Amino acid sequence: MAVNTIEFRTLCRELGDAVTLVAVSKTKPVEDILALYEAGQRDFGENYVQEMLVKARQLPADIRWHFIGHLQTNKVKLILPVVQLIHGVDSLKLLKEISKEAVKSGRTADCLLQVHIAEEETKFGLDAQELEELLDRAATGEWKQVRLRGLMGMASFTADREQIRAEFNSLKKKFDSCRKSVPDPLVFDTLSMGMSGDFRIAIEEGSNMVRIGSLLFGERVRK
Ligand SMILES: *Cc1c(COP(=O)(O)O)cnc(C)c1O
Repeated sequence: MAVNTIEFRTLCRELGDAVTLVAVSKTKPVEDILALYEAGQRDFGENYVQEMLVKARQLPADIRWHFIGHLQTNKVKLILPVVQLIHGVDSLKLLKEISKEAVKSGRTADCLLQVHIAEEETKFGLDAQELEELLDRAATGEWKQVRLRGLMGMASFTADREQIRAEFNSLKKKFDSCRKSVPDPLVFDTLSMGMSGDFRIAIEEGSNMVRIGSLLFGERVRK
């Protein structure tokens, strides 16, 4: 079994109650997820819609599934019945679709807005202007069944710790300023940043939700 339950317990102690651990189980078999579930973990993150749906069918119903990948609009209605929190909302078009499908299915969709903080162009996320536009629209109250819960971001893939810190710091500042303008600041309470390689820096910079895969499940073969 590749699952590192010792690391899991150490991590839980380190994070305490203030930081939510999302165990990123993409590409990992249901047996591994179940092993961590049995150790007490309930929040799991997946990047691929089909994979998440298949796993959700096979695993206990009290697992909270986080969708952390890039979500295509045509997959929104598939994941809504299963997903607890959508981390990667990175366009107006996607948010509109989530709103439309949430209304249709009588659900409330909890979402994080993904902000581009890394140097790499390849990473997804809203830039400062897009974020502002989106929050302005949200403030009109037109998306009644979408609940904006906070922001998500990924730092650059670099060995430069200070750069990573600066990127997380910029996201925390955005989070604090967004919180002042959202219609419902009390539910805008989640800052999802930090992965296996950089979660300690993220927490020092104000993260309250980390997404950790390889540290718990071992290295992945596929992306
Ligand atoms: C894969 C992935 C993670 C987890 O990465 P690790 O380095 O294995 O901890 C976290 N967030 C996102 C968005 C991911 O795609």
